[in-house]
Amino acid sequence: RRRAQEAERSRPAITTDGHQVAIAANVNRPDSVAFALAEGAEGVGLMRTEFLFLERGDTPSEDEQEAIYRAMITALGDGPDGNRPLIVRALDIGGDKQVPHLDLPTEENPFLGVRGARLLLRRPDLLDPQLRALYRAAKHGGDLSIMFPMITSTWELQRLRARCEEIRAELDAPAVPIGIMIEVPAAAVQAAALAEHADFFSIGTNDLTQYTLAIDRQNPDLAAEADSLHPAVLRLIALTVEGAATHGRWVGVCGGLAGDPFGAALLTGLGVSELSMTPRDIPAVKARLRGASLADLQDLARRALAQPGAAQVRALDAGAA
Ligand code: PEP
Ligand code: MG
Repeated sequence: RRRAQEAERSRPAITTDGHQVAIAANVNRPDSVAFALAEGAEGVGLMRTEFLFLERGDTPSEDEQEAIYRAMITALGDGPDGNRPLIVRALDIGGDKQVPHLDLPTEENPFLGVRGARLLLRRPDLLDPQLRALYRAAKHGGDLSIMFPMITSTWELQRLRARCEEIRAELDAPAVPIGIMIEVPAAAVQAAALAEHADFFSIGTNDLTQYTLAIDRQNPDLAAEADSLHPAVLRLIALTVEGAATHGRWVGVCGGLAGDPFGAALLTGLGVSELSMTPRDIPAVKARLRGASLADLQDLARRALAQPGAAQVRALDAGAA
């Protein structure tokens, strides 16, 4: 019976009209890869590397990081079509992810402060060893991509990309795809310009919702209103997909909406082609997508965009998808 369940879980998410959606896992620890694969992940769509720093009292060295990334690549090897993808997000420190041992200045508004890409650009002592570790790992094969968090302008992306290229050249490493998180409205509205310089996008609906709706993602009193199904958030996702298409880039979602079966259905209708989520959410999302047609999901997405609020979007769940 276990065997049958595993076989069922590893089947792809293909809609009734033959459209396949890539299903990946979000992992915070390297040793979660095995569990993610058992739940049916086809790769890792988001490795949150800040947890490598959060869970210990010091900063992992370049060598230690290389060993971790290589172990993950090995764990993801040998998929049905070769190596499974591994998308490693460069450190996203700040906001809700504070690392005490880095002794960063305290900020009145850390969510609007030096976090993600802004911190990486100010701290080459954090960025460079991580990039070196990633490119060193890439020299041993695998399907590795690098992703930058909290990008708000094309200029930030260009500078980070340039640093990647310098380090790649120094190490004589292979080029790897470089993608960005779309998790700030500024990035969504500039998606077409960013798409010229990014190989892929992954939408972080947790932060995108927080920054679009001006709601702290951790405020329990506003948890109901902080719904990623808000039509404004959906509009920004649609804009991101459109912008990406101008340069033929693919768009994934790695925020919490991807792991909600109805959200996953809606995102597929909006044109998202990869969904990355907590491993535990994978079986239900796959089942949902297998039961729907892309044409119906596209229709659902059109109707969702026209609703007055998140509650009305969620009410469309009744039968449509
Ligand atoms: C997000 O913001 O949706 C996201 C996936 O990143 P994190 O939750 O790690 O901030
Ligand atoms: Mg985020």
